[in-house]
Amino acid sequence: MSKEVLVLGAGIVGLSTAIHLRRRGVSVVLVDKQGPGSGASFGNGGLIQREAVFPYRFPREVGVLLRMARNRSVDVSYHPCALLRLAPRLLKYWWNSSPARYSEIVIKEAALIASCLDEHLDLAREAGAEHLLRPTGWRRSFSSGQDLEAAATIAKTARDEFGVNFSVLDGAGLANAEPHLAVKRAGAIHWTDSLSLSDPGALLNAHADLLLSLGGHILRGDAESLTRHGEGWLVDTDIGPVDASEVVIALGAASSRTTRRFGYKPPLFGKRGYHMHYRMRQGTVLNAPLLDTESGFLLNPMSRGVRLTTGVEFAGENDPATPIQLERSEPLARRLLPLDERLDPQPWLGVRPCMPDMLPVIGPAPGIAGLWCGFGHGHQGLTLGPSTGRLLAELITGEPPFIDPEGYRADRF
Ligand SMILES: Cc1cc2nc3c(=O)[nH]c(=O)nc-3n(C[C@H](O)[C@H](O)[C@H](O)COP(=O)(O)OP(=O)(O)OC[C@H]3O[C@@H](n4cnc5c(N)ncnc54)[C@H](O)[C@@H]3O)c2cc1C
Repeated sequence: MSKEVLVLGAGIVGLSTAIHLRRRGVSVVLVDKQGPGSGASFGNGGLIQREAVFPYRFPREVGVLLRMARNRSVDVSYHPCALLRLAPRLLKYWWNSSPARYSEIVIKEAALIASCLDEHLDLAREAGAEHLLRPTGWRRSFSSGQDLEAAATIAKTARDEFGVNFSVLDGAGLANAEPHLAVKRAGAIHWTDSLSLSDPGALLNAHADLLLSLGGHILRGDAESLTRHGEGWLVDTDIGPVDASEVVIALGAASSRTTRRFGYKPPLFGKRGYHMHYRMRQGTVLNAPLLDTESGFLLNPMSRGVRLTTGVEFAGENDPATPIQLERSEPLARRLLPLDERLDPQPWLGVRPCMPDMLPVIGPAPGIAGLWCGFGHGHQGLTLGPSTGRLLAELITGEPPFIDPEGYRADRF
């Protein structure tokens, strides 16, 4: 086969797609504005979430909505102007979160999630990066016994219907597992299958090296320069214009900016998040990633230090960083763990690429020959990148897909 494919965007989705295409003998040029792993795939919470069969839905409980509306929470904040602009997409998101529609979405999400561990391990093994994927699982702690019980009921559903494994820790069990946790909690759910990364950036660099070793190319270039070129596509890069018969849009939260120019306008929207690393006091450890429900952020012990990743911020595409959530989270984190100084000069900011139906867009763009989509993975893009890359490569090369791609079609909106 003499297919040539341009992959735009070198996050986890673009890199995985490019590797899978190279494995199938396709000529691949991966193009990114800044280089591999400069988007959300670099700075996320580092969880490969086998348990994430229930995607992050729009809250429908009045109490939760009122709390969020006050715009003082740790887990969600917003720029009022951005919220107005996003209103139609958020309304759709809310609509899709109704129990009936949500249960159909869960089935489609779970089908893709089921392969995440195998697909990650497959790429990491070939890239010599298996050591970055730690079998720690992750824990979600709860302050009240009632909340822990409710979470355990949901976890049982995830186990019975979707094969997800977990254990329930009581307060003493959690204290035993995390001896330096400075607060008492009623207990925790430990998602035992999930993997955690010690360094997401290092994983992406290993994947970039793997792609090069397989004969792929990685260039700098701006997707904004993409144009039609005869039957195919052309993009400007640091070594000049490059053309190919097909193009994959894997630009994360920026994807619709490019597809829109060619007539495809998916309702993609961004949910921002921040991170900061902290040194822990000498002689203290956090053994596994911890999301303390009452506090509303994730703490993951990584090679650089403990990475705190914040919840969601709604803001305009070009608005400056406003790391208010990090300022709110840090004092709470210091009450949970013996954290020392900050290790980054400034908070990192990234954007989760979200769709109103909580499902990614994987497949051909409607009515645009040779344009493929791989974006919109929301809160679980790190988890789903390798599975998406395999599915897209199979669709592009005409191989039978390893799972039914129907639920992720680009023309579903
Ligand atoms: C705070 C936070 C925590 C998260 N935690 C987790 C987690 O624990 N587990 C999980 O599974 N997911 C998590 N996510 C979600 C996950 O990180 C994203 O869904 C995923 O990284 C998206 O991958 P991507 O390849 O689609 O996009 P990205 O990683 O954003 O990659 C897009 C690439 O496109 C490039 N690009 C953009 N515009 C252009 C242009 N015009 N021209 C050329 N290149 C361009 C960028 O430079 C970038 O390299 C988190 C996200 C955030 C923000």
